[in-house]
Amino acid sequence: MTEQHSLITALRELQARAESELGAITDLQQLEEWRIRYLGTKGALTMALKDLGTIPKEDRPAAGQTANTAKRTLEAAYDRHLAELRQAALATGLSAEAIDITLPGRRPQLGYSHPVRETLQDIIRIFGSMGFSVAEGPEVEWDRFNFELLNIPEDHPARDTMDTFYVDVPGGIVLRTHTSPVQARVMLSQRPPVRVIAPGRCFRRDQEDASHLSYFWQCEGLAVDRDVTFSDLKGVLASFADQILGCKVRFRPHHFQFTEPSAEFDFSCLVCGGKGCRTCKYEGWLEISGAGMVHPQVLRNMDYDPAVYSGFAFGMGPERITMMRYGISDIRLLNANDMRFLRQFA
Ligand SMILES: [Zn+2]
Repeated sequence: MTEQHSLITALRELQARAESELGAITDLQQLEEWRIRYLGTKGALTMALKDLGTIPKEDRPAAGQTANTAKRTLEAAYDRHLAELRQAALATGLSAEAIDITLPGRRPQLGYSHPVRETLQDIIRIFGSMGFSVAEGPEVEWDRFNFELLNIPEDHPARDTMDTFYVDVPGGIVLRTHTSPVQARVMLSQRPPVRVIAPGRCFRRDQEDASHLSYFWQCEGLAVDRDVTFSDLKGVLASFADQILGCKVRFRPHHFQFTEPSAEFDFSCLVCGGKGCRTCKYEGWLEISGAGMVHPQVLRNMDYDPAVYSGFAFGMGPERITMMRYGISDIRLLNANDMRFLRQFA
């Protein structure tokens, strides 16, 4: 056999072997290895082409043609196989990530009011029907509004029960301990008649337990005009108790710095209807909050003449009323942000 023939035969065998190996290749990794083996710079076909230089000149055209045909054929086969493997990989990926559009969708969660917010809305509605409008003030308050204008000077023991978060700046800034500073703000900004409620959040340094939170809602009420009496206060609160929970109200003497006379008021127990049970500690009544006639000194602080004007003020805890409404035994549940608890009020 001449050198020409042996090279041509070798090239044809090489092409046949490469084609048969290619047919068995099923992944891209193997395909790349095949490409390097035959068509790479040190691949079998590339090396065979270099051998062309070693055969006699007259034999080169035929051998060169065979070599080029083999190269073109294998390159085309490689491109085809590569395209097939890519197509197969794509199809596998698509079926693995397929989205079943026949599945029912997930419903978005709908929000709804917190039970304390619901109670607040009812409080605002009921007092609104009695002519009270809503007033608001800042939660971060000057010491003067939170204490001094309400007749609670520095070092007064009444401050002990309202320890809060202080910012030590000239004039003193506190997180307000009650919504009463809103009363001061309203009275300083307008002349009588005044009839407002002030719902808002308050802060104290209280240890949290089943009936105390360190931040909580309060709703204050204030009415100042000529001839406002304690019986007006009783009438307003009795009507409120009846409308919000359908219960009765009673007053007990008490002391507050910014009212005189002062009282605490209770609602009749919803659980036992006033007969006495564990919830009300067999009293028949549950404490709600404080109230009283605005102290003459407070009126003077606001530049209202106590000889002409009188007024009453009261406060209440919307959380406490919410607990009575729904029979909730632990106030901390209201701030725990536990959806299992809150969904019950949806
Ligand atoms: Zn009871």
